[in-house]
Amino acid sequence: MEPADCIFCKIVKGEIPCAKVYEDGQVLAFLDIAPVTPGHVLVIPKAHHADLFALPDSLGAALLAAQKRVGRAVMAAVGASGLNVQQNNAASAGQVVFHAHYHLIPRREGDGLRLWPGTPYADAAGMAAVAAAVREALASLE
Ligand code: 5GP
Ligand code: ZN
Repeated sequence: MEPADCIFCKIVKGEIPCAKVYEDGQVLAFLDIAPVTPGHVLVIPKAHHADLFALPDSLGAALLAAQKRVGRAVMAAVGASGLNVQQNNAASAGQVVFHAHYHLIPRREGDGLRLWPGTPYADAAGMAAVAAAVREALASLE
C-alpha cells in the first residue's frame, strides 16, 4: 500500500507532471527536477517500494534493462561520455523521496563532479576485519 503523500506515486498516476523520457509496464523514467548534471534521469518502479531493500527481486531485470536503455539514450542526447548510477537508501545516505529510484547522472571528462572521495583503509588487518564482519552478517541472514 502506497503512502498518500508519495511524490513519485503521484507522478506515476499523472497527478503531478514530469518530463517523462521512458515508460513500460513496470518502470517509469523522467528528468530529475534538480539535476546534478544536465540530463540527470530518475528510473523508478511504478509500484511503490520504499527503497532497495523493499524492492522485489522480480523487478530487478526490468529496472536494470531500463537503466541501460535510458542510460545510453541520455548519454547520446546530452553528449556525455560516462554515466553514474546512484541509488540512495535511508536519510543517512541522502534519500529524500522514499519511493525507490535510481539516479542516472551523465558525465563528461573534466565536469568537476567528485562523487567518490575514497580514503584507503589504514591497514590490511582493519580491512580484513570489516570483510569478516560482513561475511558473518551474511551468514546470520541465511
Ligand atoms: P533522493 O535524494 O531521494 O535519492 O533523490 C530524490 C530526487 O528526486 C532528488 O534528486 C530530487 O531533485 C528529485 N525530486 C524531488 N521531487 C521531485 C519532483 O517532484 N519531480 C522530479 N522530477 N524530481 C523530483
Ligand atoms: Zn511511491
